[in-house]
Amino acid sequence: MAELDGVQELEALAAEAARCKACPLWEGRTNVVFADGSPQARVMLVGEAPGKNEDLEGRPFVGAAGKNLDSLLELAGLRREDVYIANVLKCRPPSNRNPQSHEIQACAHFLHDQARLVMPDFIVTMGNFATRHIMKTDVGITRLRGQVHQVGRFRVLPVYHPAAALYDRSKQEVLEGDFRTLGLLLQTP
Ligand code: SF4
Repeated sequence: MAELDGVQELEALAAEAARCKACPLWEGRTNVVFADGSPQARVMLVGEAPGKNEDLEGRPFVGAAGKNLDSLLELAGLRREDVYIANVLKCRPPSNRNPQSHEIQACAHFLHDQARLVMPDFIVTMGNFATRHIMKTDVGITRLRGQVHQVGRFRVLPVYHPAAALYDRSKQEVLEGDFRTLGLLLQTP
């Protein structure tokens, strides 16, 4: 019953985000990109913000980066429907520019509520931006990736962003290794 309440709360949150005009990004969006996957997931993946394809489809991580993410999840023994995927920002920044601090300030409560309601065993932050936001640090992803960090009540595993690894073979190999590590962590009692 508690799980159902959490699901209902997430649905209410998604409906609230769909109407949100709390920062100027609402003006340029086609869709609010709230989340994808299971509200009962053991793993929550966090990216930066929707890109062009995500904005058009209303789902996070579609297109080439999404395909890469699907194959990375396989290495961890997971399917997309087993995990919960969200971004720090729910609307696309123009020309995929970096999120700005007032946008994050306006939007971050959605992500924090999502994490509270899903309550995953692991939060996987993908890329520098999501990692810095969740871990409240200026340390770069290269130093933080591949290790589990305790952040409040959450265990956080930072990894490279699947889009950043698309055209960088060595980054892709590191990323694949980190998803294999995630698979092992999930098997550890
Ligand atoms: S980015 Fe977030 S805060 Fe800004 S309009 Fe979209 S949902 Fe609202």
